[in-house]
Amino acid sequence: MNDFLDELDQELKSEPLVSKNTEKSTHSKKPIVAKPTKQKTGEKKFEKHTKSQQTSKKNNNRGNRNDNQNYGSLKERMMSHLPQTKFYLPTLREGYTRVIPIGWNDEIGSKNMDMLQYGENIILIDCGIQFAETEMYGADFSIPDISFLTKYTDKISGMLITHGHLDHIWSLKVVLPALNFPPLYWTRLTIGLIKKQLEEHKLLDKATLIEVDAGSEKEIQVGPFSVEYFKVNHSIPDCAGLYITSPSGATFMHTGDFKIDLDPVIDEPANLSRIGAFGRRWVTLLMSDSTASLRKWHSMSEKNVWEALDKIVEWHVKWRLIIAAFSSWISRVQQLIDIAAKYDKHIFLSGRSMVENVAIAKELGYLRMKPGIVKKMSPKNTEGIPPHKQIIITTGSQGEQFSALSRMAEGKHNAVEILQWDTVVFSSSVVPGNERSVSSVINKMIKLWANVITKDDGEVHTGGHAFQEEQKMMIKLANPKYFCPIFWDLYFRNAHKNTAMSIGMKEENCLLLDNGNIVDFAPDGSVFKSRLKVPIQDIIVDGHGMGTTSSHVLKARETMMNAWVLVIMFKVDKKSKAILGHIKIESRGLVYLDEVRYVHRMIIKKSKEIYENTVKDVPDIEEKDLVKLIRTDLEWFVYHRINREPMIIPIITEV
Ligand SMILES: [Zn+2]
Repeated sequence: MNDFLDELDQELKSEPLVSKNTEKSTHSKKPIVAKPTKQKTGEKKFEKHTKSQQTSKKNNNRGNRNDNQNYGSLKERMMSHLPQTKFYLPTLREGYTRVIPIGWNDEIGSKNMDMLQYGENIILIDCGIQFAETEMYGADFSIPDISFLTKYTDKISGMLITHGHLDHIWSLKVVLPALNFPPLYWTRLTIGLIKKQLEEHKLLDKATLIEVDAGSEKEIQVGPFSVEYFKVNHSIPDCAGLYITSPSGATFMHTGDFKIDLDPVIDEPANLSRIGAFGRRWVTLLMSDSTASLRKWHSMSEKNVWEALDKIVEWHVKWRLIIAAFSSWISRVQQLIDIAAKYDKHIFLSGRSMVENVAIAKELGYLRMKPGIVKKMSPKNTEGIPPHKQIIITTGSQGEQFSALSRMAEGKHNAVEILQWDTVVFSSSVVPGNERSVSSVINKMIKLWANVITKDDGEVHTGGHAFQEEQKMMIKLANPKYFCPIFWDLYFRNAHKNTAMSIGMKEENCLLLDNGNIVDFAPDGSVFKSRLKVPIQDIIVDGHGMGTTSSHVLKARETMMNAWVLVIMFKVDKKSKAILGHIKIESRGLVYLDEVRYVHRMIIKKSKEIYENTVKDVPDIEEKDLVKLIRTDLEWFVYHRINREPMIIPIITEV
């Protein structure tokens, strides 16, 4: 019998991952022109690809009226949710090239996005998501603020995507319709990972996905910019850095997320000679990953993790292993598949994103495995396979509430019941902010008599970001005139700046930027930072709604989180305005049980007094003014009597 991956192969084979999408472009702003290069093979493929886009444009315009209607309404919905901004980009002087960070500053798992401009032409780099933080008060996540760009959609020549992590691609489903679907340039695995998301949102047919090869040396033309890719290592295969040349000759190197692994598991090592060649050519500005800039020395190779995991499997040959890992860490899955084969064990995948990512990576040829060795975790698939022959790879390494691992720890997983002596390995690091939820899962596992192994017990994980020695290597090879540390808090970026200065970078040539800073590079190599800033806000997505962190919804949630709620209901005569019956009161989180009667009675008495005095003094007062006055007076009263500041909601019903 075929395993689920083989069955999925069949489904996916009937629908190629790349070619179909790229043939259905509706973006009619600019023809995409492949610049002649010395790399004949890459060029040929690109030209063919461009042609098919143009042909399909006709087909697309002819039919699919419903799709266009859907797209129209989706775009309208997005546009209506984005904050209105009167901000216009200042005029860019002739021959200058502009850089604006739109998102990545002071954010963890951030909504990465940068913008480059030459003349009136704009290109964008990455389009990530920031997951919910405490100040979002229950909203799901935030996206880059592209509201100022909606005036320039016909000037956007393309979006360059560095790799397939959510903090670099997730917001595309929201941003693409708002920006009128600029063409997307990205590597093969990245296209595979996002395809499903675009499909679910009915955007795939509208998107122009252009595949690039990070290992190739071809140049591509995106608007007036010439773009070359270079291979870097990270925690997901197929990661690219960018070398972008402006018509003025200014050059911009963007590392994306990177580390340098000379012995990666399923990827090629970062292309150091190519980075060095760019450095010898000329790099005006290097924008480099600061995520691990506090870590000294060199990050560990993925191969070391292989050795540690191999030992764990060998020592636990008589017991079941449950390995929690990031679902995009394809190389980690490959290591476990190889180790399972060596010790005659079977791999079972648990968690939707783990199953989907492994299926996509296998389809695209990034994973090698013997048929039948990898299966989806289910009671049916484990039938006849004793626990000690099972290795379960699961999502939930961050203790996420509804993840597969959390469900196992709570005894709610439909296919896995934790057994005594099961060994749970966290093959991951803890993202800052997730410490409590991870230790909560560990505690629950220990209560179930499971054995828990984390990064602190051995080399079961290595990070995906460059440590200081790798950061130095990047700076030395690129040899830039200006250096801009990117990603994470100022603390991390400043540490990266210090590392750069320790190897000779001049302080005046280090740029610590905020989101929205406008930095213009002159043709003679000098740089100008504008006093103007793009007014970047936090755009939060909240279910089907969208707003900013300064919106009244979030403000109200903030008040309720920090205070409590008090609702006072008045029933009054429409004509005389006299109160009918008793004033009713409801409070939440305001008073303790032993004081409830006293406090409620006191508030009712005061509410009656405020209402009657106001109506007596101003008989024709409008209801909204009356409500406001009652609220203000009661806020003062409650604060002075019980030293608490609830959110007060007076409701007046006329009968
Ligand atoms: Zn990443």
